[in-house]
Amino acid sequence: AKASLVTDICFYEEAMDEAVRQRRRVTLGLREALDNDRFELHYQLQASVETGEVTGYEALLRWRQPDGSYISPMDFIPIAEETGMILPIGEWVLRRACAEAASWPEPHRIAVNLSPIQLSHVDLPRMVHQILIETGLSPHRLELEITETAMISDMERTTHILRQLKLLGVSVAMDDFGTGYSSLSTLRAFPFDKIKLDRTFMSELDGGPQSKAIIRAVLALGESLEIPILAEGVETQEQLAFLREQGCDEVQGYLLGRPARDVGLSDSRAQAA
Ligand code: C2E
Ligand code: CA
Ligand code: CA
Ligand code: CA
Repeated sequence: AKASLVTDICFYEEAMDEAVRQRRRVTLGLREALDNDRFELHYQLQASVETGEVTGYEALLRWRQPDGSYISPMDFIPIAEETGMILPIGEWVLRRACAEAASWPEPHRIAVNLSPIQLSHVDLPRMVHQILIETGLSPHRLELEITETAMISDMERTTHILRQLKLLGVSVAMDDFGTGYSSLSTLRAFPFDKIKLDRTFMSELDGGPQSKAIIRAVLALGESLEIPILAEGVETQEQLAFLREQGCDEVQGYLLGRPARDVGLSDSRAQAA
């Protein structure tokens, strides 16, 4: 029994080593990517349900590989958050998104995702202010998307930072609404400018009456709180028709446009939808 315990421990340590090595590789890779301009932002349009017009774009981070393929943010953001690399990467994202949006032909809104780590970091409002000045982007064109995980760790501190951000004139959206455990108390803690209904509700829409009832309830909630609702992950005409019928404000999803390097390119897709 003793021998097998020792073997188990060795096994465990080897696996640990491998995980640590893997993390170190990714961290070095992220550093290298930042230094050599291997990150890109792709933009996905958001549209008004009523008019079909583009209201803004969400910036989505991509890590370009030497062979031209991309690594998804879901595969490297968690590691970047663990190692702190999310701070320089997040700053790069903000600066690039604001600079690119400032040069668009139309003054569309630009939505940028913020990691909870960035929110818990001092000086985020100052950094945002600095970037707005540097890029010349008007503050009302910038929207910051945060998830409720950013709120639960230290609600008071986070809402203080969010209030400072709003004082700059930028807006704040609650992302992935409905997936966490405290979505409602999060809404009570801070006056969000928008609620983004998580895309899982869309994908389950055809599954039965529950998802429809939940979407209706969230739309009613938005109505009474006077917060516009954007539905994420809209992929079919049926989903769009239901959302329109129920009075949803904005939509985002493959039906209207996939994330694309070129803002104009995804515009033409929206018109097709
Ligand atoms: P998110 O903020 O919820 O972003 C929406 C994700 O849904 C994007 O995945 C987008 O490509 C995908 N999506 C859009 N429309 C549809 C649709 O109709 N169907 C389906 N199935 N998916 C759709 P992506 O680009 O892989 O990003 C994944 C997550 O990575 C994002 O989720 C966000 O949490 C994070 N992320 C992306 N960029 C950044 C960034 O710059 N900073 C931070 N902190 N996180 C980021
Ligand atoms: Ca988002
Ligand atoms: Ca989302
Ligand atoms: Ca998500």
